[in-house]
Amino acid sequence: MIGGGVVGLSATVALLRRGIDVRCYEPGIPMGERSVGDTRIFRLAHAYPDMVELAARARTLFSEWSELAGAALVDETGTVVSGAGAREWAAAMAAAGAAHELVEPGSSLLRLPATTFAGPALVDPAGGVIRVDRIRSFLVAGAGNRLRQARVDALEETIAGVRVVSGPDADTFDTALICAGAGTSALAAGVGIDTPSALEHHLRVSFPIRPGAPEPLQCWITGESAGVLGTYQHRAAEGSWAVGGEIGAALVGWEGGRQAAERASLEVLTAYVAEHLPFVEPRPVATVYCAHHPDLGDGLRFVRRGRILAMYGENLMKFAPLLGETLAVACADGSTPGNAGPS
Ligand SMILES: Cc1cc2nc3c(=O)[nH]c(=O)nc-3n(C[C@H](O)[C@H](O)[C@H](O)COP(=O)(O)OP(=O)(O)OC[C@H]3O[C@@H](n4cnc5c(N)ncnc54)[C@H](O)[C@@H]3O)c2cc1C
Repeated sequence: MIGGGVVGLSATVALLRRGIDVRCYEPGIPMGERSVGDTRIFRLAHAYPDMVELAARARTLFSEWSELAGAALVDETGTVVSGAGAREWAAAMAAAGAAHELVEPGSSLLRLPATTFAGPALVDPAGGVIRVDRIRSFLVAGAGNRLRQARVDALEETIAGVRVVSGPDADTFDTALICAGAGTSALAAGVGIDTPSALEHHLRVSFPIRPGAPEPLQCWITGESAGVLGTYQHRAAEGSWAVGGEIGAALVGWEGGRQAAERASLEVLTAYVAEHLPFVEPRPVATVYCAHHPDLGDGLRFVRRGRILAMYGENLMKFAPLLGETLAVACADGSTPGNAGPS
């Protein structure tokens, strides 16, 4: 396993549960890159019926994880998707047989930090806040001493298996899975697997929730409309509201540097909160940064070359337990899981 983010750790734990030995290489803090932070949004709502179905399977598996962890890993607040795309997403949910409601702003089914916004609004009652803090503890404990603090420099397929080179050491395994997040494309390219390499800076910012806000607030994804930012929002640490958005490639382009992108994101998101969220104070209290792929939305991608499998995508946290199971099967039997989402 190359990468100890949520994908690599989920697959490691799923393999160990099948009695298959595994080593997970992670040079930094486990789940400290794209899986960093304490919360994410869970939703069944997607633009594609196959993604809705996969999210429903992931939700069932999150419940199994919660049992094993002895704590709820998804807080069931519900998720709302609003704006022009909401009808299309509602159609995908209907096609997948998932419970949902399509309502207008002002509906009694909504508990959001704003009452006026571009509708319609799709209510996904199975959505909620993913407790990444608890998942991290659960997976790190599950991986135990199979987690090795080391960077992988190169992979090489030989007759004996896959040679994994890490500094002065090299070990050979039956199979290897590259799930190294922003590090995937460089490693995969070395073994002839093509994956997206472009990166963009991304910052999510948390602000205090004002007294009197509806309880419990639903997670919220707003479409871009009439010059208003497309965002994702949810309750983060107690009393704070996390907001992230697509603020424009010119402001967060890789070449512009992390500092400039963080400054611009803080400014744009704070202005958005001041103008559009009456129940949130426009005073940043925390941030979560990552380097992400700019051109990938929802979708799961798997590429195999011989004994080496690479997995990539965006918004993968909500699929973590399903990815763990799927990748464990693929590692064990040499299969390649089918892609999901936009082709
Ligand atoms: C601010 C923010 C908000 C998000 N919101 C949501 C959301 O609401 N819902 C949702 O489902 N998802 C969300 N996501 C996305 C989700 O968190 C990520 O898709 C997911 O965590 C990615 O996990 P990963 O294991 O693929 O990558 P990572 O967590 O980045 O793990 C990859 C690991 O590989 C390691 N690595 C890199 N190179 C090497 C190497 N050469 N050798 C060994 N190891 C290496 C890295 O150190 C890293 O720890 C969000 C992400 C961010 C940052």
